[in-house]
Amino acid sequence: MQTISADYIYVGNGTVLKNYAIQYDEKGTIKALLTPKEYTERNIKPIFYPGALCPGFINAHCHLELSHLKGKIHKHLGLNTFLDALIPLQKYPPSEQEIAQAILEMAKQGIVAIGDISNTKHSFRIKEKLSTIHIHTFIESFGLHPDKAQERFFQALTLFHELKSEHKSITPHAPYSVSQPLLKDILDYACGERHILSYHLLESDTERTLFEKKQGKMYERLLEWFGDLSFFEPQTNNPVQEWITHFPFDPAFPKSMLHVLFVHNTYLNEAELRMILEHFEKPYFVFCPNANLYIENRLPDVEMFLKYKVKICIGTDSLASNDELSILSEMRTLQDHFPSIDLNQLISWATLNGAEALYIEDKFGSIEVNKQPGILWLKDTTTHLTKHSVIQRIV
Ligand SMILES: [Zn+2]
Repeated sequence: MQTISADYIYVGNGTVLKNYAIQYDEKGTIKALLTPKEYTERNIKPIFYPGALCPGFINAHCHLELSHLKGKIHKHLGLNTFLDALIPLQKYPPSEQEIAQAILEMAKQGIVAIGDISNTKHSFRIKEKLSTIHIHTFIESFGLHPDKAQERFFQALTLFHELKSEHKSITPHAPYSVSQPLLKDILDYACGERHILSYHLLESDTERTLFEKKQGKMYERLLEWFGDLSFFEPQTNNPVQEWITHFPFDPAFPKSMLHVLFVHNTYLNEAELRMILEHFEKPYFVFCPNANLYIENRLPDVEMFLKYKVKICIGTDSLASNDELSILSEMRTLQDHFPSIDLNQLISWATLNGAEALYIEDKFGSIEVNKQPGILWLKDTTTHLTKHSVIQRIV
């Protein structure tokens, strides 16, 4: 049994304990949280870590299969030009070594679990082999031409069955990349099986213009890609409304069972946020601030999300749109741009909220008895992240 203490213990669930001690066994299972009085009376001398301790981080959104694309695409191109640059690069698959290295790098940065998007099986073997971190794989499907819907859905289903893991879901990519029949196929299947969904939403405002006016940069890009967009006939004129229209809400089981991770939300406005909150009981809003700055040079309206007290998670996205896979770095970006967010709040976004979203809060996300969340030492950190704050993994 090991006993450790710090100036501040950020539990992950919103509680901050000053000078408490954590007891854990050789497997990293938390056995007790002791007050200073309790450990002094029992004559226990904890190992003291100046600064703060917190649970292991959950990276709610990444793409391991893009781990070979670091520095390959210029910054601030905007989503459409970024995608035009990305698509040809995806023809070259990553090596297993590059994927393994990304996983090990994340573990070194204190990440204990990830929500990882797969469009191919490039990462499957490594994921099955490496048990360094917990991985939930989102098998992501896309295809804007309705004629291809069945083919695309079966491709996703085949991949889904090929991955030897129970932590997996089928999910649609984004409003601008999935046809109505494909969206229906995916959602019917995934909601029926109670899969966790992950959906790239409003990473660019051209998504909204595409639905609203059938104009703008995304419309032009798709028109160039397909030659003709007469098949693109959304039922509504807003990407969020469209998603809700096609969502198979089923009164037979509670909405709270459905976890939907809305990823990016860079241009989500208040009316759209309210629309989501009206229809979903468990929406999780995943921010990937460094990737948003990399691609669009803009961040979501974080203060708007705070006003509605929604569940926020943090992701790194991939190395195609980020210089590193570090949740600490994402937290620092958020703190620098939104100084009103306190560290305790940021830590709960980076830990328990992500664990809940991925249904792994029984084990991860908070320093509570019987969990094995991992424990991180935030050096040079008390109530704010500083430029000297670094992570050291204790457990
Ligand atoms: Zn993504």
